[in-house]
Amino acid sequence: MLLENYLKTLRLPTFLREYQQAARQCAEKDQPYEEFLLQLAGREVAMREQNAVARRMKEACFPAEKELSSFEFAAVPKLNKKRVLDLARCAFLETRENICLLGPPGTGKTHLAVALGREACRRGKRVRFFTAAGLATAYAEARAEREVQRLERHIQNRNLIVVDELGYVPLGQGAAENLFNFFSKCYERTSLIVTTNLPFSEWPQVFGDERLTGALLDRLTHRVHIIEIPGESYRLRDGLKRQEGGEGPAK
Ligand code: ADP
Ligand code: MG
Repeated sequence: MLLENYLKTLRLPTFLREYQQAARQCAEKDQPYEEFLLQLAGREVAMREQNAVARRMKEACFPAEKELSSFEFAAVPKLNKKRVLDLARCAFLETRENICLLGPPGTGKTHLAVALGREACRRGKRVRFFTAAGLATAYAEARAEREVQRLERHIQNRNLIVVDELGYVPLGQGAAENLFNFFSKCYERTSLIVTTNLPFSEWPQVFGDERLTGALLDRLTHRVHIIEIPGESYRLRDGLKRQEGGEGPAK
C-alpha cells in the first residue's frame, strides 16, 4: 500500500503501527484532522525518546539496574538525601563538576553511582561506567598509540564517566599512569563520578607515586561534590535482619 511505503521511507514506525486506530478514534469522536496528526506525531516523538534513552542506557554498560527510587535513604540517616536528589538533577554535568562517593564497602556507593548515571541517561546525557580495574585494563589493551587515541575519544565523547571502586586494589605503575592520563583527559571536559573506600590521604599508597597522586587529586577535586557514606555495610545489615526475621540469608 502506498501510504505504508511512504511511512516506511520517512521512518515513522509509530505512525505506521497506529494510524488506523488513531483515525478510527478521531472519526468516532468527530475530532478535527489536526487532532489526528497531533496524536500520531506525539506518539512518534515519545517512542523515539524512549528508544534513545534505552540506547544510552545500553551504551553506558551499567553493571545493574539500580535506581534512586530503590535506595533506602532511611538506612543511612547521615547521608544528606536532599543533596543526593539535587545532584540527580544533573546540573553538575553542565558545569563539568565531579562527584566522589566515599565510604566503606557495602554502603551503597555503586548503587548511588549507577542510579545517578541512569538519571543522566534519561536526561539525554551520554554515560559510561567502568570499574577502576576495568578502565586500567581498557587502557592496557589499547596500548597501541592509535587505539589509545580511540579510547580517549570515546571517553571524551561522554558527558559522564563513572569510575567505580578506585582504591580497592593497589595499582601497578602502568595502570596508575594510565588512570592519571585518564583523569587529565577528563579534566574540565567530562564529569566523573568516582567511588572509593579510601580517604584521599591514602591514595598515594594505591597509586604508588606521591607526585602523580597529588596531580591527579588536584584535577579530580578541583570541582567536586564529596558525598561521604558513613556506617556499616547495608548488605551485611540486610542479611542479618533477614536472618533474625527467619527469612534466611539475602541472595
Ligand atoms: P558499595 O559499592 O558501597 O560497596 P553497593 O552499592 O554495591 O555498595 O551496595 C551493596 C548492596 O546493597 C547492593 O545490592 C545495593 O543495591 C544495596 N544497598 C546498599 N545500600 C542501600 C540502601 N541504602 N538502600 C537500598 N539498597 C542498598
Ligand atoms: Mg561498589
